[in-house]
Amino acid sequence: MNNLPETRSNVNSECGLCHYAFYLNTGRCTNYFCPNHEAEQHTRTLGQFIHVYAKPPLFHDRRWGNWRLDAERLCLVFEQDRWTYEVDIERINNSAQMLDWIYQVKQKGWASPTVLCDLLNSLHDLFNPQANLCSYGGDKKINATEFLKAKIAGTQVDDNDPVPISKVRFGFDVDLEDSPDKPPETLQ
Ligand SMILES: [Zn+2]
Repeated sequence: MNNLPETRSNVNSECGLCHYAFYLNTGRCTNYFCPNHEAEQHTRTLGQFIHVYAKPPLFHDRRWGNWRLDAERLCLVFEQDRWTYEVDIERINNSAQMLDWIYQVKQKGWASPTVLCDLLNSLHDLFNPQANLCSYGGDKKINATEFLKAKIAGTQVDDNDPVPISKVRFGFDVDLEDSPDKPPETLQ
């Protein structure tokens, strides 16, 4: 690939505005609603698109707003001022258990739309639920402890993970003006 923009390593780094992780190879924020996301407006090749939007790995202390991944204890910790609240992600072995946590948090007085959106984004990055828990309305079951340890170690690959360039099946150009904010998986 030629002319790949903004190549850098952003492993373990985060956006100063919203505390989301950066995409793996660029200074762009993974939070679609953040000014640092800088949605693409220009035509790029599919290879360039995948490079720019290569997703960051899961790592200890990765944040989505006020939610932080504790990769050692396997929980999502919400931190605000001097108090915390925890979602035990090891207890998410099926879609009903995930739904239970979402609506448990929704009842909290501190659960603003931003807090709920950040929680959904973190659960998406952790579990990719439509691939692993609720595909086509079915109720898949996982062993959350094993699943999360494999995801964090990088040994579990699913549709939410970056696509190795060698696996790209199509060579057409992608006009991002037609799909300004679609995540990479829509183009596979
Ligand atoms: Zn941001």
